[in-house]
Amino acid sequence: MGDETRSKFKRICVFCGSNSGNRTVFSDAAFDLGREMVNRRISLIYGGGSVGLMGMISQAVYDGGCHVLGVIPKALVPIEISGETVGEVKVVSDMHERKAVMAEQADAFIALPGGYGTMEEVMEMITWSQLGIHDKPIGLLNVDGYYNSLLELFDKGVHEGFIKPACRHIVISATNANELLAKMELYTPLHKQVAPRQSWEIAEVL
Ligand code: AMP
Repeated sequence: MGDETRSKFKRICVFCGSNSGNRTVFSDAAFDLGREMVNRRISLIYGGGSVGLMGMISQAVYDGGCHVLGVIPKALVPIEISGETVGEVKVVSDMHERKAVMAEQADAFIALPGGYGTMEEVMEMITWSQLGIHDKPIGLLNVDGYYNSLLELFDKGVHEGFIKPACRHIVISATNANELLAKMELYTPLHKQVAPRQSWEIAEVL
């Protein structure tokens, strides 16, 4: 506990692959992020289950003695689909409710490498920030350049006039968990929200 670092985040939602990827660098990164969260006493919110990188990060945070909340749609609950979930489990009706619960409960969001599911989840949180539904930090853990081409696409979006430069600032990225968390701690939104926070129905994020 001697090297414990204080964090302003109490709960971080981590989106990540339901697969582990083909190289150990990805599982190493999931365990490392879990340890960095434990060092800062940050709880985990994630998609539930033990498949792929989801299982690794949840085990690392749980073993470190921090709270783990798995938010899992009822269709994915069967053990043969998602595996055992460590910690607390909240069963929700569908994917929309899952994301809304995650968005409401978390102080910040991190995407580890993953596939379509991970990309869709983190993109939704980016667009919700742009719209003004939330103003929580969003980090891409760019393990071994996994997200380079996505980050380049965002830069192209700015260059071609589809993403405002201030909105590009919504996406924080770093190659390791320690640096990513440090950058996320310092995040302050630069963009003007499309619509003020109070104008969004509360049901939108509950
Ligand atoms: P992907 O990045 O495509 O592997 O998808 C990861 C996301 O999809 C997770 O955060 C979950 O929301 C969902 N997902 C896909 N497969 C499963 C599964 N077997 N168990 C739980 N969640 C899953």
